[in-house]
Amino acid sequence: MTQHPFLSAEKAAALAERFGTPLYVYDEKTLRANAAACLAFPNAFGLTVRFAIKACPNAAVLRLFLSLGLHFDASSVYEVRRAMLAGVPAEKISLSTQELPEDFAELLRGGVKFNACSLDQLERFGRAFPGARVGVRFNPGMGSGGTGKTNVGGPDSSFGIWHEYAGTVKEILEKHGLELERIHTHIGSGSDPAVWQKAALRSLGMVRLFPTARTLDFGGGYKVARVDGEKTTDLQDCGAPVRDAIAQLAEETGRRLHFEIEPGTYLVANAGAILARVQDVVDTGASGRKFIKLDSGMTDILRPSLYGAQHPIFLAKKPGRAVPAETENYVVVGHCCESGDLVSCAPGEPETLAERALPRAEIGDFCIVGGAGAYCAAMSAKNYNSFPESAEAMLCENGEMRLIRRRQTLEQIVQNEIA
Ligand SMILES: *Cc1c(COP(=O)(O)O)cnc(C)c1O
Repeated sequence: MTQHPFLSAEKAAALAERFGTPLYVYDEKTLRANAAACLAFPNAFGLTVRFAIKACPNAAVLRLFLSLGLHFDASSVYEVRRAMLAGVPAEKISLSTQELPEDFAELLRGGVKFNACSLDQLERFGRAFPGARVGVRFNPGMGSGGTGKTNVGGPDSSFGIWHEYAGTVKEILEKHGLELERIHTHIGSGSDPAVWQKAALRSLGMVRLFPTARTLDFGGGYKVARVDGEKTTDLQDCGAPVRDAIAQLAEETGRRLHFEIEPGTYLVANAGAILARVQDVVDTGASGRKFIKLDSGMTDILRPSLYGAQHPIFLAKKPGRAVPAETENYVVVGHCCESGDLVSCAPGEPETLAERALPRAEIGDFCIVGGAGAYCAAMSAKNYNSFPESAEAMLCENGEMRLIRRRQTLEQIVQNEIA
């Protein structure tokens, strides 16, 4: 692929002209298509799709998903409040968090749903809301993720209540008269579909232990292919055996379980790109390397430096420049004073340089980093080297280019400092 799927060289130039670079660009059409695919997830007795806010929390994205019928998964009380600020009704938000602050009760009183993610959280919820309905996040005893950093299940993971503590969960429920209405698992981002299915089927075992459970929430983690050789999870294949198992459970017990899924990556990863400018091209001699330096980097996209994540990189010539026939092998680096600010690293190896074949680059050309809709604007080394937080734009279905977040100013970077 020589051209980015939704960001042509012409669009890139037009966006850069209007909003400057670096710029996050989201494509409304792709966001809508991804939402439709998730809403078609196999289910026997109804489905709620929750967008995992942490993947891409911009209000424009949240509002679009809200309008399409999605609900939301928040991983902190701040995300809950941010979604509400964007206009999401409290009852469409579910909170599963590693840190439950002192004042959580106030927030939940407004109608936000809650999954207790530890025994202590369940106990505190019970004290605040005796007799209420609650969800519980279990660690099903297995995990899977694209990398160790994104695996959040199994004995080495602190996420959720260890499955063997179901008895203690029951005691706490009884003590406070709580009713467990929802069982939740989320085993990792970029999980292997086979492991995901195994974990999902194991949650069905938990459902049998808790006769009041009416909803099974399988979390997120559905893989997407950003570069050649990676594979996007087929949601139909992935969900079908679990749907069948739930239909079977209904036949045996009469319990008709509602499904929830919480995709983050799947909904947004390939609907976003970073539009950057080639601000320098250098080399280290005849036996060395050629480098493209972007006006972006770990301040906008941390995934390569953190996980050795692979993102496709496209070169778009500056308007008026011909596309050269020949390619060169380039190492693509960011603008931070840190050799770890490497965009083209080797797969899974953040510190190992890898080269990408790109049309010969000149200063002023554009680089488009694809697959940057999830965990990029949301998770960056923001303000490192005092680079401002980048702007975000939406390519609307009607062809309009809409700014959805302004570039940060220097005044905003220092506004909380006390001299
Ligand atoms: C992060 C997270 C998700 C989304 O994970 P993806 O890999 O982006 O799909 C869903 N549910 C919970 C509880 C999470 O923490």
